[in-house]
Amino acid sequence: MHEYTLMELSRLLREREVSSVELVNAFLHRAEQFNDGLNCFISLFPEHALERARAADGLIAAGEAGPLTGLPVAHKDIFCTAGFKTSCASKMLDNFIAPYNATATERIDAAGSVMIGKTNMDEFAMGSSSETSFYGPVRNPWDTDRVPGGSSGGSACAVSARLVPAATATDTGGSIRQPAALCGVTGLKPTYGRVSRYGMIAYASSLDQGGPITQTAQDAAMLLSAMSGYDRRDATSADVKVDNYLDALNKEIKGLKIGLPREYFSAELERPITDALDGALKLFEQAGASIVDIELPHTELSIPVYYVIASAECSSNLSRYDGVRFGHRCTDPGDIMDLFCRSRSEGFGNEVKRRIMTGTYVLSAGYYDAYYLKAQRLRRLLRDEFRAALEQVDVIVTPTTPTAAFPLGSRLDDPVAMYLSDIYTVSVNLAGLPAISIPAGFSHGLPVGMQIIGNYFREAALLNVAHQYQQMTDWHKRMPGGRQ
Ligand code: GLN
Repeated sequence: MHEYTLMELSRLLREREVSSVELVNAFLHRAEQFNDGLNCFISLFPEHALERARAADGLIAAGEAGPLTGLPVAHKDIFCTAGFKTSCASKMLDNFIAPYNATATERIDAAGSVMIGKTNMDEFAMGSSSETSFYGPVRNPWDTDRVPGGSSGGSACAVSARLVPAATATDTGGSIRQPAALCGVTGLKPTYGRVSRYGMIAYASSLDQGGPITQTAQDAAMLLSAMSGYDRRDATSADVKVDNYLDALNKEIKGLKIGLPREYFSAELERPITDALDGALKLFEQAGASIVDIELPHTELSIPVYYVIASAECSSNLSRYDGVRFGHRCTDPGDIMDLFCRSRSEGFGNEVKRRIMTGTYVLSAGYYDAYYLKAQRLRRLLRDEFRAALEQVDVIVTPTTPTAAFPLGSRLDDPVAMYLSDIYTVSVNLAGLPAISIPAGFSHGLPVGMQIIGNYFREAALLNVAHQYQQMTDWHKRMPGGRQ
């Protein structure tokens, strides 16, 4: 049963081929069986899940089922879930039970889904490999000596290994798309403001956005429909109509204009990734789309600009963890400064500390203009380049990552090498655009992702292009061997 998509499982439930209790039991069983090896869950909630599943079966029997009723899902441990541990994979929040729900996950809950657990991630979503977690690294189900990508590596790993049919995730600079690519699953980062950030633990507020990780674009459409929409509790949430994303999936792509930015096909790109993209573009052309060369000339600045802005915002957001109101507190503080210093020194890991220090530096009086202000100006430039390109074309196609999954530990001592893992994804967050990563081939037995970038609030069009591609290919159906 675990190989079915969310859409297929939803049909099986409605047709009473299976009950929610059976489904949830089956996935819980797999999650318990494989989590020791993969470490993709921080928590599993079997009792809560079975109680919800029983209630879902009641609703289905009464003909009162919602779109996601009875379907198991997992949430990244960055979303506050009332009454359940919400750790952000940090020692700082190891003891934190959220007092309220994040809007995004609450909406998925209200649509009837059953949360079976919370997924592992890089600490405070800072990383590209899911190795900075206080709970140890997540492993890639395609090769357990390799990383699953990050920061939403737990969600991508769990969906890839079919331990859950769908999961939520967040993306500040690539954390939905990059792990989706490295694990061979579908990951959608919506337009900034499409999904409420309320209750989603903040990393870099002007970049963070929640979204789904699923097997297919169709499943992503199901989850996005439930998660999206205006929320008065998030001042940056957009009051823009939510499309019916599932209904949008039947459009031909004949006449579609696909932009290809040359800057994204550099020498560092692995050959099999170029080949996968070439293959995909041929298919699009056969289906009637045309390929247009476009320019995004300042792409190479996106990594430095991103790391100045993301670090600056994180240094501000993470100042709330002071050992006073919640989170880790050191023992026997001598005075208030000692309480702050030791609680933070003990509670945060090295990567988080590196970001806080970088952020504090670029915001300091002497360096604000030279770094932060300059980065903001360049951010505008990058956004304007995307805007101009999207006037010429409907979508932009790029690789999601320059390489397939890399070995565990191989980039941990070299932060710049780690940061470059996101070279193709961060500029999308800087511009606030929506983008999806879908499986498009393999490189030496490891999955390869293709990124499709769309215009603001055009998730429906984006999902349709991804869906049409998935109708022509079966990369998204491949499962990691030995875990079936
Ligand atoms: N890898 C990037 C970072 O470390 C992006 C992380 C994310 O999207 N949350 O900041």
